[in-house]
Amino acid sequence: MTGTPVPFTVDDYTARMRRAARAAGEAGLDGVLIAPGPDLVWLTGYRPPETERLTLLVLRPGEDPALVVPALEAPDAAKAAPMLTLRDWTDGKDPYETAADLLGRADSPVRADSPGHTAGPGRTGRTVRFGVSDNAWAMHLLGLQSRLPEAAYVSLTEALPMLRAVKDAAELERLAAAGAAADAAYEEIRKVRFAGRRETEVAADLDGLLRQSGHSQVDFTIVASGPNGANPHHEAGDRVIERGDMVVLDFGGLKHGYGSDTSRTVHVGEPDAEERRVHDIVRAAQEEGFRAVRPGAACQDVDRAARAVIDEAGYGEYFIHRTGHGIGVTTHEPPYMVEGEERPLVPGMCFSVEPGIYLPGRFGVRIEDIVTVTEDGGRRLNTTAREMAIVD
Ligand code: ZN
Ligand code: ZN
Ligand code: ZN
Repeated sequence: MTGTPVPFTVDDYTARMRRAARAAGEAGLDGVLIAPGPDLVWLTGYRPPETERLTLLVLRPGEDPALVVPALEAPDAAKAAPMLTLRDWTDGKDPYETAADLLGRADSPVRADSPGHTAGPGRTGRTVRFGVSDNAWAMHLLGLQSRLPEAAYVSLTEALPMLRAVKDAAELERLAAAGAAADAAYEEIRKVRFAGRRETEVAADLDGLLRQSGHSQVDFTIVASGPNGANPHHEAGDRVIERGDMVVLDFGGLKHGYGSDTSRTVHVGEPDAEERRVHDIVRAAQEEGFRAVRPGAACQDVDRAARAVIDEAGYGEYFIHRTGHGIGVTTHEPPYMVEGEERPLVPGMCFSVEPGIYLPGRFGVRIEDIVTVTEDGGRRLNTTAREMAIVD
C-alpha cells in the first residue's frame, strides 16, 4: 500500500485518447474538445495552470490528438504530454481562430454515415457535432461558437458518460490505495476527543490525517454533529460537539491522482435505542446495496436494493439522495447509482454505496464505502468496521 505507483506512460495516454476518439465517432461526434480539468488529466497527464487563456485538447477520429495552447505554456505542455501536436497561440492573437482552423477540417465529416447526424446549415450539408468537456469555461465555448457557428456542441458527459467509468488494473490499484489511506485516517480519528470540541477542530484533525496517509489533496472533511447530521451537505461548523451526539464523518480527496471517499457515523458516548436502530437500518441498507453489485446489474438496482431496506423500515422519506456516484481522478463522476440509470455495471467500475437517513432537527446517519465491480460481484475498497463506533 505504500510507495509511489508506476507512472502512466505516453502509451497509456495515447491508448486512452484513441479510445475516446473512437467512442466519439461511434456516438456520432466529429470530435471531442477537452478543457483543462479531470478529463484532460486522465487523457494526457497534463495539468495546466487554471487561467483564462484558452487551452483545448482536440480529439478527432482518425487524426492525431492536438492541443491548442498558449505559447507561454507550450514548453510545459510539450514536456508533460510529448505525444500531442501543439498549436500554440500568442497573446494578442485570437485563440478561437487557432482552434477553428483546427476544427474547420471537421467540415469534411469523418464518417458521413455515422448515426446521430442531422442535416444542418454547414457547408457540407450536415451539422458537425463536437462533445465538450463539462468544465470548459462558457467564455471559451462561446468564443468557439462565434467562429464556428455552423457546428453543434454537446455535453461530453451526456454523449460519452462512461468514458472514464471503467478503471484498468493500474487505476484500481490507485483507488484501492486511496481507500486504504482514508481508512487509516478513520482508524485514527476514532481515537481523538470529540466532546467539547468544535466540528471544525475535528475536521482539521481529519484533514491532517488524510495528508499523513498520503493524500495530496483533501476535497472534503464533513463533521456533522447532532442536528447538523440531518443535513447531508453540512461540512463542518462552529458547533461544539456534545456527549450524546451522533456525528457523521465523510471525508476524502486524492492520493497519487485518484480519489477516496468514505463515511462512518460515530456516537459520542453510549447511543440510545433509536440511534442504534437507525444506524442498524443504514448499515443493512449499505450491505444490501453492496450485495446488488455485480456485472450486468443496472446502476439503479444498487439504489433500489439499498432504498428498499430503508423504505421497509419506515424511513424512506428521510433518505433524500441517490445511493452512489463514481470515483476516479475526481471524487464525484459517472456512473451514478440512482433511479432511472439503467446502464449496466461493468467490471472495473468504481463508485460509492452510501445510503443515509436524515431526521431533521435531530441527527443523521450515513455509511459509505467505495466499491468496485469484479467479475462475479463487488469488492469494497473501504474495509473499516461499519458498526457504530463509540468515541469520547
Ligand atoms: Zn445520542
Ligand atoms: Zn462521501
Ligand atoms: Zn460519496
